[in-house]
Amino acid sequence: MKSSTDETLLALARQKLEVALEKMRQFHIPATPENIMVWYHYEQGDIPKLNVEVDKIIGRSGSFSAELNSQLYQRYFAELDRKKLELLQGAIRQLIGHFSEHIKLLNDDLGDYEEVLTDCADSLQGELEPDDLTQLIQRLLRETLQAKDVSLCAREKIDALNQEVSQLRTSLQELERSALEDALTGIANRRAFDQIFKDQLALTENSPSGCCLLLIDIDNFKRFNDKYGHQSGDKVLRFVATMLKKMTKGQDFVSRYGGEEFAVILPATGYSGGMSLAKTLAVSIASSRLTIDAQKKLIDFVTVSVGVSWSRKGDTTETLFRRADASLYHAKETGRNRVVGQQDLERS
Ligand code: GH3
Ligand code: MG
Ligand code: MG
Repeated sequence: MKSSTDETLLALARQKLEVALEKMRQFHIPATPENIMVWYHYEQGDIPKLNVEVDKIIGRSGSFSAELNSQLYQRYFAELDRKKLELLQGAIRQLIGHFSEHIKLLNDDLGDYEEVLTDCADSLQGELEPDDLTQLIQRLLRETLQAKDVSLCAREKIDALNQEVSQLRTSLQELERSALEDALTGIANRRAFDQIFKDQLALTENSPSGCCLLLIDIDNFKRFNDKYGHQSGDKVLRFVATMLKKMTKGQDFVSRYGGEEFAVILPATGYSGGMSLAKTLAVSIASSRLTIDAQKKLIDFVTVSVGVSWSRKGDTTETLFRRADASLYHAKETGRNRVVGQQDLERS
């Protein structure tokens, strides 16, 4: 259940979001999640440097562009803080609810005219004197003219609100997706891993084959970055992510766990199956040749070390993870570019 402090925070966030959206409308900035993030925090004022920059841009040109917005987003929000994201998601959700209520009220206004019509139709059923009839016609004319005005105005408002709601819904869906996805590689992130890992282990309780966890860490990656630059490093991260995706299938779950570390969950897979896939992965990565820059210069081989654990009865996410991590540590200690499984550790 949400506490009242959470509710107050959300209500405040929603107010800021409304003001932010109004400003975005003024500058014709589309309500994409990235744009909303920048303007929402501008209104919050929690990143003073961002406000100085935005004020400078507006002061200089009196306008703003989607491109400038995108640059600001990259600079300030590329690495999204989970808490900030959750607050913004909540605020958008609340605003959608708020707009939906507006739409309902406007629709109710239109409903009033319907009531007048029904009322007049009922009166026509009875016996009417000519005077009554004149009055009825006058009332009808009056109400119809009024309803026409209300209806036109309400229709426009409803259309505008409907458009805003559908834009916000799309933004919310994209925010929810991006919250679970790693921006650099496009695969699942640590947050998604934590969720799936917990769910998977609960399912595994009753499965005879259990599940395997592979922790994969790129070897000497710091040295690689130093030698070829951070951008080439990023290319390697995308390459490893692609290889992992390509070589797994079905329900297997691939994620970027942290900097140059990946975690793969293999549901319904025994220990030897997990070890065998880990070895194939390591060999395939190590035997691929990568190139960088426009000249397609070949670079040093990229290798990974892998730690493998396999679920046992009574395992928790912590115990299963710890065994894979200890195995990975051992693979690093014993020379890198290797696969070590929990049984290797238990034997040694
Ligand atoms: P080891 O073989 O023991 O794992 O050594 P390592 O150098 O790979 O490990 P270390 O933990 O010392 O360094 C990890 C490096 O990964 C340092 C960091 O700059 C780099 N890294 C983390 N995230 C990113 C990223 O998103 N892009 C790039 N290019 N590098 C990253
Ligand atoms: Mg590491
Ligand atoms: Mg490493």
